[in-house]
Amino acid sequence: MRVALMGPPGVGKGTQAARLTAALGVPHVSTGDILREAIRTATPLGRKAKGFVEGGKLVPDELIGELIAERLGRPDAGRGFVLDGFPRTVEQVGILDRVLGRLGVALDRVIILFAPESEIVRRLGGRRVCPRCNEVFHIESRPPKSAGVCDKCGSALAQRPDDSEDVIRERLAVYGEQTLPVAAAYRERGLLVEIEGTGSPDEVFGRLEAEVVKA
Ligand code: AMP
Repeated sequence: MRVALMGPPGVGKGTQAARLTAALGVPHVSTGDILREAIRTATPLGRKAKGFVEGGKLVPDELIGELIAERLGRPDAGRGFVLDGFPRTVEQVGILDRVLGRLGVALDRVIILFAPESEIVRRLGGRRVCPRCNEVFHIESRPPKSAGVCDKCGSALAQRPDDSEDVIRERLAVYGEQTLPVAAAYRERGLLVEIEGTGSPDEVFGRLEAEVVKA
């Protein structure tokens, strides 16, 4: 199955994409994770993307297009994939159409998670991530067993540089202006499934499972 998962920053996209990936047995393709790894290891892509990511702006479509063509062309993506955080602009919808067209496949579903802005700001402010294995925690709703340490790999947890209050506001504005039109485009094609992202991760996954895995 080929799925794209969208939604505002902090709605739980990454957490749900990881669970959906496991349930479907396909790779999780997160453009945000790929970019953060490139920045951490200072690759040419990482050096070009760093200023955009840390300022809450979108990385230019051209760079994202190259990244996604390379990733979806790998053999493991032949089984399907869950896209997380891509496409994020109307231009990227066209890029994805071209990449999938060359591969001779198409998207099956586009899922959008939604939640009130107050809930999103609360979730992002308390979010802590593992810079090594990308596991995500929350200081109130999903604290690590030992404060500040990743349960999975033992690395020190960190706050993402783009989870500061002013950058959160910028990211939400960018989402409204550039990414909501993507949802509208997929709604017109009859591919969009809207899922409420409030409640526990289990509750949200239950809704996703009913709509996508068991449907
Ligand atoms: P995320 O982890 O999905 O919230 O992405 C973190 C940041 O990476 C975003 O705020 C952007 O700066 C950048 N980014 C991730 N995916 C994309 C994309 N599809 N297009 C442009 N920039 C992106």
